[in-house]
Amino acid sequence: MSYNRLLILDDDPLIGRTMQAIAESAGFEARFTSAHAEFFGELDGWTPSHIALDLVMPEMDGVQVIAALAERGCAARIIITSGVGLRVLDAAGRSAAEHGLDIAGVLSKPFSPVALRNLLAGTGVAEPATPRARPAQTAATSASDPMAIDPAELAEALQRGELFVAYQPKIACGDGRLAGFEALVRWRHAERGFIPPDRFVAVAEREGLIDQLTDYVLERSLAWFCGPGCAPCGGGESTTLSVNISARTLVDASFVDRALAMCAKAGLPPNRLIFELTETSAMEDPVASLELLTRLRVKGFQLSIDDFGTGFSSMLQLARLPFSEIKVDKSFVMSAARSQESRVVIRSIVDLGRSLGLRSTAEGVEDESTLEYLREIGCDLAQGFHIGRPMEGPAVDGWIQQRYGTPVPSP
Ligand code: C2E
Ligand code: MG
Ligand code: MG
Repeated sequence: MSYNRLLILDDDPLIGRTMQAIAESAGFEARFTSAHAEFFGELDGWTPSHIALDLVMPEMDGVQVIAALAERGCAARIIITSGVGLRVLDAAGRSAAEHGLDIAGVLSKPFSPVALRNLLAGTGVAEPATPRARPAQTAATSASDPMAIDPAELAEALQRGELFVAYQPKIACGDGRLAGFEALVRWRHAERGFIPPDRFVAVAEREGLIDQLTDYVLERSLAWFCGPGCAPCGGGESTTLSVNISARTLVDASFVDRALAMCAKAGLPPNRLIFELTETSAMEDPVASLELLTRLRVKGFQLSIDDFGTGFSSMLQLARLPFSEIKVDKSFVMSAARSQESRVVIRSIVDLGRSLGLRSTAEGVEDESTLEYLREIGCDLAQGFHIGRPMEGPAVDGWIQQRYGTPVPSP
């Protein structure tokens, strides 16, 4: 929409008029009403580009209005306002976003003119994060889906070396030093181009290719991490390499020995290799997973519980299995700057980790204010686009030079 029109629905005329004045001073045409019938009339007749909606109103509350807007397929950007407290506001924002509405953000009353102007200008908060789909839900194989992954093709790609590994840095929240890298697999498909792991890892799990995939990533990432002239390994004795493993790996009794052999070949002590496991996957075969994970720890490897806070039985897993690190799921971290709720969850997870003697890592750090918050609450490590995107090996040296201003140390 190329025009700027704000329609305000608020049962308090003083607040409504004030918002109208602020919007007009920001170059918007603005209309205000306290009546629902008039609001829906203006919606159809005047077609606003933006809507400011009070959550608490007599008659029909803001949540009902949101449902009605969703039903009409409303395309306007919506600002939710209220004095009900951030918890409720956040939930309303999430609910509206899940309804498919375009949420500019939430404003807690009393709010400043600047906060409203920022939201109107689009520089304020964006819509609250919605939970990400689990890999299993996105990896279709049906013949009717043209994007489906063909297992035979995946097996061939593994043989031909079409899969590659990208490395995302982790830094210490406190002093910013380099803590390590997470290895993330990708597929460079000859016709389709880049395919992200969420699309094919679940296929590999289902089709019995996951052990091959894990070994592939482990071998390549160790070779990179410990290779000649490699800064991450040669430069700092305490940097770590993180590799994701699947639930299926936990029933593969030979994995421990293979991992040990690969580490020995690369010359990396096992305590610098961290295996990341999602909390839901650790549950599938509780007895086998406890045994294998314990063996990995006994051999010196580190273990991380990934995406913490999104799965089931998190507490049970955490108490039962021998993890050394807890990774706060990125859905909380990515929304920390705009959601009080998310910040509280992050703090609780970090505190929980500390009480259990685990190192905490927050992934999905996208801005400086979130990093600042993590520092404040004593989170150990941070990972995210704000620090560094996943990069191919050769790009990492440049990233280190740029961030730390030092030449890449020789091994
Ligand atoms: P994960 O292990 O939780 O990895 C973190 C994911 O978050 C990565 O997505 C990374 O690119 C993304 N990420 C990191 N920081 C940010 C940020 O600031 N903003 C946003 N929006 N995203 C961020 P990616 O590479 O697409 O991987 C998705 C998942 O695929 C991984 O989640 C992991 O569960 C799985 N995966 C990746 N590589 C492997 C592998 O070699 N083996 C197995 N079994 N799974 C893998
Ligand atoms: Mg991970
Ligand atoms: Mg994760």
